[in-house]
Amino acid sequence: MRPSLFSYSLPELRDYFVSQGLAKFAADQVYNWIFKKYNWNLDTWSNVGAKVKNHIKEQMDISLPKIIWDGLSEDGTRKFLLQMNDKQSVESVVIPAKNNRLTLCVSTQVGCAIGCTFCHTGTMGLKRHLSINEIVGQYMAIGRWLLNETGEDVRITNIVYMGQGEPLHNFENTKNATIIFMEDQGLGLGQRKITLSTSGLVPQIEKLADFPPVNIAISLHASRDDVRTELMPINKVYDLKRLFTAIRKIPLKAHRHITYEYLLIKDLNDGQEDIEGLSRLLPKKVSKINIIPFNEYPGSNFKRPPDERVIWFQKSLLDRGLITTIRATKGQDILAACGQLKSELEQPNLWN
Ligand code: SAH
Ligand code: SF4
Repeated sequence: MRPSLFSYSLPELRDYFVSQGLAKFAADQVYNWIFKKYNWNLDTWSNVGAKVKNHIKEQMDISLPKIIWDGLSEDGTRKFLLQMNDKQSVESVVIPAKNNRLTLCVSTQVGCAIGCTFCHTGTMGLKRHLSINEIVGQYMAIGRWLLNETGEDVRITNIVYMGQGEPLHNFENTKNATIIFMEDQGLGLGQRKITLSTSGLVPQIEKLADFPPVNIAISLHASRDDVRTELMPINKVYDLKRLFTAIRKIPLKAHRHITYEYLLIKDLNDGQEDIEGLSRLLPKKVSKINIIPFNEYPGSNFKRPPDERVIWFQKSLLDRGLITTIRATKGQDILAACGQLKSELEQPNLWN
């Protein structure tokens, strides 16, 4: 198999070029054409030598995941289904926000092994990890699509690892993709522009000092072990006590605060005792809570609480000194939550 250009960090590409008898500095030029200029037409790379171009054409892979479906929501959220070389597919979502912010929600696995009971991806099980180039490729394929579609220099400004899969289960590839996203001579995304969301894999959280210092979000969803275990089977192995012991060791100077995602589900974790529980559990100065009202989908028994309940929940936490936001539900009309599109496409009866 040819090595993919999208699997190398800049220092790695320099080393690779040297190992192939090519000029080291050509790596910087190639990075610039691809990642800064989005130019795939090698013949127009004016400052790159023929030897390097031929090597890339003949011995490397510069293909990207194929966009096989895209859907635009009324609120501007755009969802993409991307197909990999082995025909497996994943979804990515682009969410516009104010100040020209454009956030890409990236997948790190096909399916997911964690099996959260509320999550559509979780019901699929894990098919496989995505490679570095398949993770970076989601950004590049959609970035190129946006440029072609709008004819303007629109760029994706933020990345959240909140598509399909558990990013820390695919630690090395997610880490290497993150290093590529952050390369100054390439996409140049700052560490504050990238958010990694995890269901709480304790051994990998303990290794976060080895990960670029991006924002960290923990999918908490409950303040008591019995409720959390009902939602997330991983809590049987890594319960709240072990989870928080690991979280406390995350080097916070770099991360500033930890975000806790709290999926709010009707009559399950939206009561007074849950507010008290969160208030006891979370260290006030370094925690932010992001309430995610459950996004209902066909076949799920969980329900979204009424808006008044969501607002009451937020206010009660704010009153207890916890910084709390409510995640705006985006792309509901195109089922833009975790894992939903793929499953829908796999059931043609629902789709037609
Ligand atoms: N596996 C990682 C990251 C991907 S899931 C994790 O679990 O953190 C990203 C977020 O989407 C998680 O917080 C998850 O709880 C949320 N999510 C999953 N299904 C959802 C649904 N039906 N409605 C709203 N949010 C959902
Ligand atoms: Fe996996 Fe995250 Fe879905 Fe849980 S919520 S099954 S960890 S993708």
